[in-house]
Amino acid sequence: MQPITVRNPATGQLSGTVHPTPVSGLASMVTRARQAQQRWANLEFSRRAEIMAAFHDRIIDQASLIFDTIQSETGKTRRDALAEVVSVAGTARYYIAHGKAFLSSAGRRGAVPIITRSRLEHRPHGVVGLITPWNYPFLLAIADAVPALLAGNAVVLKPSELTPLSANLGRELLLQSGLDPDLFIVVHGAGELGNELIRHVDYIGFTGGTVTGRKVAIAAAERMIPYSLELGGKNPMIVLSGAPLKEAVAGLLSGSFSNAGQTCISMERVYVEAPVFEEFSQIVADSTRNLKVGWSASWDCDVGSLIHNAHADKVMELINDAVANGAQVIAGATRRKDLGPAFVEPTVLSHVSHRSAISTQEAFGPVVSLYPVQSPKEAVVVANDSDYGLHATVWARHSSDAMNVARQLETGSVAINSTLMIYNAFDVPMGGVKRSGIGRRHGEHGIQKYTQEQSIVTSFATAGGYDSILSKIQSSKSADGLLKALRLWRKIPFIQ
Ligand code: NDP
Repeated sequence: MQPITVRNPATGQLSGTVHPTPVSGLASMVTRARQAQQRWANLEFSRRAEIMAAFHDRIIDQASLIFDTIQSETGKTRRDALAEVVSVAGTARYYIAHGKAFLSSAGRRGAVPIITRSRLEHRPHGVVGLITPWNYPFLLAIADAVPALLAGNAVVLKPSELTPLSANLGRELLLQSGLDPDLFIVVHGAGELGNELIRHVDYIGFTGGTVTGRKVAIAAAERMIPYSLELGGKNPMIVLSGAPLKEAVAGLLSGSFSNAGQTCISMERVYVEAPVFEEFSQIVADSTRNLKVGWSASWDCDVGSLIHNAHADKVMELINDAVANGAQVIAGATRRKDLGPAFVEPTVLSHVSHRSAISTQEAFGPVVSLYPVQSPKEAVVVANDSDYGLHATVWARHSSDAMNVARQLETGSVAINSTLMIYNAFDVPMGGVKRSGIGRRHGEHGIQKYTQEQSIVTSFATAGGYDSILSKIQSSKSADGLLKALRLWRKIPFIQ
């Protein structure tokens, strides 16, 4: 098999090669992972957390190497690479501190007070398969693996074949931190290998596009294995009259143009109340023109390259189609071939027709459309008019107004006075509704999903225990007595 060649999309320079994993080799790799997992699951949580703490410190020590590697295969800016390290370190910090409590065996109410008891246990699935995309190759490959490993699983990861180097580096840093090599295996190849992986693992965590996500769900359903899908979005931003406009624009610029817009939670639709629409548009136009587009291994660029030429073509097609349907260009809308093959100027459009594909499709590039709305109520209606439901953001003068709008949005998360912060708010779940996904990362769910819940119920043993209670009812009088007890039970505090 030919090696997979990785090039920097910004410069065309060769960044490295990896060996593709033969589909026929996958089964034995998963078997190795399964054997290692049994030893790993028997360790105390604190021992697993020690390795993860060493990993946390190591990624901070080795941050420059990680930035170089991420940049070399994505063409993104150094700041966008830094964002990946911040989120991986944060995920590790959060689950090292709280994972034990989320996984610990907990007493629950018994079927009948006093004479019965219940406990809830969390058992690791075994081998967790992760399939990840190219847009955050270090973050998405590693951050979901951290809670999976801490929960006592082994992980087999298939990163995008476009960006395998960051995943390999993440593995190397985990091994240097003391992890058994068989507990974190990285396999390389295209979608076919991902599809095969689902046939072998005990849980599949998928991050990627909605079309592929549906295929993954079908393959997981065939084997009846649990799965999570973190998919795309067409995320709305709502700006109410009275909101601090300069601050909202600064939020929009980070929310729409960082990572060249290739972020699942980036803002692609902005609904601005009519009285402030013109002023808001003007500030957006001026600020967008000040952004520096380009690539360097330093900190001086604001918007980097897209992942490849074909993706830049697709984004430009969406922009050109919008313009052909009457959209006005407030900023950008230019392909920057002078900078490299896949650069697109950060683009702001207004008067975008509903006929344009960009009004509903995820562009996944540095392009945002501004729409005036007459009221917060209209903003909510148009924001919710989407097949997607991943994330949204609201800007208002009063937090109560923002909260009121946020509660009406059909999205898995809403940020107020921020755009992308949800990714680093580790104590609350993050994920999508509608076609944006199933399942959540972060919070207790983000580690418990890597376990099977096992309930252990204990009864008094006398004369057959709890199950013999009904068999002792042999007259309507004793049945009535039981029904009266049931009526009373609902009214007694503490034992309901
Ligand atoms: P894809 O869905 O094309 O690919 C994601 C991964 O799935 C890749 O590793 C790909 O392999 C693999 N794959 C492709 N086909 C199959 C298959 N039939 N079975 C199993 N695996 C398969 O997404 P992109 O890489 O294009 O990523 C962009 C998308 O990811 C956007 O829609 C974005 O919104 C979404 N995303 C969602 C996030 C979230 O948290 N909600 C976060 C980041 C991105 P290969 O590419 O090597 O062929």
